[in-house]
Amino acid sequence: MKKTTHEQTKLHNMRLILRTIYEAGTISRADVARLTKLTPTTVSDLVEVLLTDGLVEEVGFGVSVGGKPPTLITVPSESRFAIGIDLADNGIHGSLINLRGEIKYTASIPGNLVGDAALEQIYTLIAQLMEHVDKKQLLGIGLGSPGVVSFEEGIVRRAVKYQWKEIPLRSLLQDKFDIPVFIANDSQVAALAEYIYGVDPNEKNLVLLKVGEGISAGLIIDGKIFFGDGNGAGEVGHICVEPGGLLCRCGHIGCLETVASLRALAQMTREILPGSDGLTNELLLEKLVGLIEAENAESKRIVSRAGDYLGLAVANIVGLLNIHKIVLAGPVTVLGDVLVQPILASMQEKALDALSKQTQILVSDLGTNIVQIGAAALVQQSTLGLF
Ligand SMILES: [Zn+2]
Repeated sequence: MKKTTHEQTKLHNMRLILRTIYEAGTISRADVARLTKLTPTTVSDLVEVLLTDGLVEEVGFGVSVGGKPPTLITVPSESRFAIGIDLADNGIHGSLINLRGEIKYTASIPGNLVGDAALEQIYTLIAQLMEHVDKKQLLGIGLGSPGVVSFEEGIVRRAVKYQWKEIPLRSLLQDKFDIPVFIANDSQVAALAEYIYGVDPNEKNLVLLKVGEGISAGLIIDGKIFFGDGNGAGEVGHICVEPGGLLCRCGHIGCLETVASLRALAQMTREILPGSDGLTNELLLEKLVGLIEAENAESKRIVSRAGDYLGLAVANIVGLLNIHKIVLAGPVTVLGDVLVQPILASMQEKALDALSKQTQILVSDLGTNIVQIGAAALVQQSTLGLF
């Protein structure tokens, strides 16, 4: 029992030291001791272990404050990698990502297989990515999956897109690849990416609203993903915004997804664009952008109506949580201000002034890789204690 406690303290201190060096960029051992409030001996001993592991490196000397100049240490961004996988609307995308969220190698499998066939695609993609990294440098695999996912148990409870129910994805992948695996909902990991690498990083709270084929939000509260009691926090796509409206794929009526998702925008574009029946939703979104650039009034009305509903959902989120930073992500962000302005106006109209005044609607600049970067960050956070 005593031994476990000692090991736990050592691990805790090691992570604290690593995180302090990571956040500082370059730093001396003495400053690590000062910032962590650990003794210089503890810091020296544990830095020695990190040096041996190759997780930190000596990079020259700092300025002397009397006596010999201190040796500076750093966490090289390529000392470790994580695989980040996005189980996305249009296929499965994966990347090898370094400790600073930079993509070193990327691969995709397009298509929309379901059930076991989708699992096989994931195995193939991971095997391909693993060929491009030394396994000793690989921290683990992170996945962002649609649907309700239990991070703690590593189980995809339900993902309609893949027709999965209670899939123990973590243990399946750990058994196959013999490496740590972490899974969470795709919007939740996207929110983590935004928190670490996004616009004004490290704001303690944020809501990431991901609008694609479906709509869901990821919540960062006090620097941590908020999963909710049943891991379903952020399922805002199925908030009712139009009672008596259209039937949603969830079986309810008038959900946000029926009026403001990529699917809804594509359907409305199809209705105003002759000969567009066979086009995919992604292509229809491109057409919609084209129509807006051509000052087509109907297309602007379509986007403004979707923005109005999204603003209603954001007003409800703001009323509940009073979080100032709302970040929009997903394919619809190509609509830019044409979408953001009506969201902002609608939110300001519907939320209490005192709350809406300081609330910002921002567009993520992490682009289509946001879920992959967030999934890799989940690995770094879980294995090294970074962030
Ligand atoms: Zn619904």
